[in-house]
Amino acid sequence: MCGIVAYVGSKPCCPLLIEGLKRLEYRGYDSAGVAILEPSGRIDVVRAVGRVSVLENRLTQRKPLMGSLGIAHTRWATHGGVTEPNAHPHRDDRHGIALIHNGIIENYSTLKTWLQERGHVFKSETDTEVLTMLIGELYDGDLEAAVQAALREVTGAYAIAVICEKEPGVLVAARKGSPLMVGIGADEHIVASDPSAVVAHTTQAMTLEDYQVCRLTPDSFRTSTIDNVPVTPKVHELEMELQEIERGGYPHFMLKEIFEQPSAIQQTMRGRIDKREGRIVLGGVGQYARELVKARRFILTAQGTALHAAKIGEYLFEELAKIPAECEYASEFRYRNPIIEEGAVVIAVSQSGETADTLAALREAKDRGALALGVVNAVGSTIARETDAGVYLRVGPEIGVASTKAFVGQVAVMTMLAMFIGRRRFMSVEQAAGLIDALEKIPDAIGRVLEESDHIRKVATRYIERENWLFLGRGYNYPTALEGALKLKEISYIHAEGMPAAEMKHGPIALINEGMPCVFIANRGSQYDKVLSNIQEVRARGGHVIAVATEGDDEIRKHAEDVFYIPDVPECLSPMVAVVPLQLLAYHAAVLRGHDVDKPRNLAKSVTVE
Ligand code: GLU
Repeated sequence: MCGIVAYVGSKPCCPLLIEGLKRLEYRGYDSAGVAILEPSGRIDVVRAVGRVSVLENRLTQRKPLMGSLGIAHTRWATHGGVTEPNAHPHRDDRHGIALIHNGIIENYSTLKTWLQERGHVFKSETDTEVLTMLIGELYDGDLEAAVQAALREVTGAYAIAVICEKEPGVLVAARKGSPLMVGIGADEHIVASDPSAVVAHTTQAMTLEDYQVCRLTPDSFRTSTIDNVPVTPKVHELEMELQEIERGGYPHFMLKEIFEQPSAIQQTMRGRIDKREGRIVLGGVGQYARELVKARRFILTAQGTALHAAKIGEYLFEELAKIPAECEYASEFRYRNPIIEEGAVVIAVSQSGETADTLAALREAKDRGALALGVVNAVGSTIARETDAGVYLRVGPEIGVASTKAFVGQVAVMTMLAMFIGRRRFMSVEQAAGLIDALEKIPDAIGRVLEESDHIRKVATRYIERENWLFLGRGYNYPTALEGALKLKEISYIHAEGMPAAEMKHGPIALINEGMPCVFIANRGSQYDKVLSNIQEVRARGGHVIAVATEGDDEIRKHAEDVFYIPDVPECLSPMVAVVPLQLLAYHAAVLRGHDVDKPRNLAKSVTVE
């Protein structure tokens, strides 16, 4: 959600800023802008509604920007409509200050009234412009001090980058709640929302913590708190490789990531399986093994796709670890005054590790004494840092806004976590060994489903005009049905509902009419016969059944118009495989409808506001 790129160095930075914004496009946004301190001594601001390419066009139609201090932004509107005056950067003309911001200034309204009384005139409806003016109001020759002073007055979340005409060669950045990092190059610094805008230039980086401010010049940096207490920054090597964030010949990141899934989850499992002992080895949670074995209850919390993975986790923890588990939207959990009793373990699941709702729930649970675990992809992200322990997905950067490989990685991690605990409780070596064998075959099983991509596209073509779909499953594959529906909604904008197959007859069955596509996850498992009955209920009302079924199940053809076969795997592992045809179905449907799969409307990759 929203992208920040800023540069201070010695070369003209406009191309670098635009390239950085393009790398951050996946995060989701609706307008873009850039501000550069020109050799004339003036900060020029250029903004545009829409894609970064629109901004780029606008830049080519004017005198090229040549300065080597600049800030650039993609905005995901929260306060004020998607218009050019609301796009960032915002300016305070009195001191020539320009600012970009990701997040929400919650007390903007009071501050705005105060600033208006002091003569400030606002040109936008944003909360961000209020912060810009506040810095201007407090400026008296030292940008860093003005930023610190202003941030002491605001509540809410922010990642900001600020420049000032009176201090050429100085870039000030700060964060609280929203992600921000600083890439350290030779005589240059690049501030960005995430490493993808930095790795092309340097692999040395530091991450800012909440309430920290960084003053950067081409060859120096100083980090302090908003109260001006100096802090020693943690400098680290970025592990990301440039090729990981490029499309590598695929038309879309999403398709690349769907096809990467076999190798991605091999990475998730690498070094974590001890076959001989029938054990799972999870270094990240090892020191809490005793607490986990004695846990009384697991609370899994997440949003979106990660929530669906967490719902599968609920089944896994109860079946494999034999510990009560419940899964809840982080946004709901957080505000319902949850009861956290002795022995409760909260697991926050998030691809980016920056999901604001999930982070807030995690903090709430920690405050109430729960042991906090993270199941996160982005290394060093806020959730990863704030949990007591955790397990990284290791599926590589996920750029496609519609999450795919991270979902499979999250389910794989939770399977291993449940086995890690289960094996220390009731699970026999034999049961564990059997499951480990099956787990190791999952990458191949996914690979086989990927070979069906063309067939899935043909099926998608047949139903492409239909505006309403149902996705139905039971047990472990009820969350898979939710995920299938979400994928279709996210990128093809087709209305889809996912639900437990049995729930359909309690109301949603009223929707079924002639030819309505109903996707059933009907692989062989403990509830196979029940799913077949639900299929009959749909067919009796004219619905068209698309079934995800187990290879070798010829019987299913009698009940379904179309079948996507998946290899036979144990029921508790089947969501990792059954979700793949649904990802491909959503992908092909979106492409057939002419949508930009990697930049779906209104969506942001990592949702950093509550
Ligand atoms: N709240 C700010 C706005 O609406 C920043 C949004 C963002 O994070 O892009 O302009």
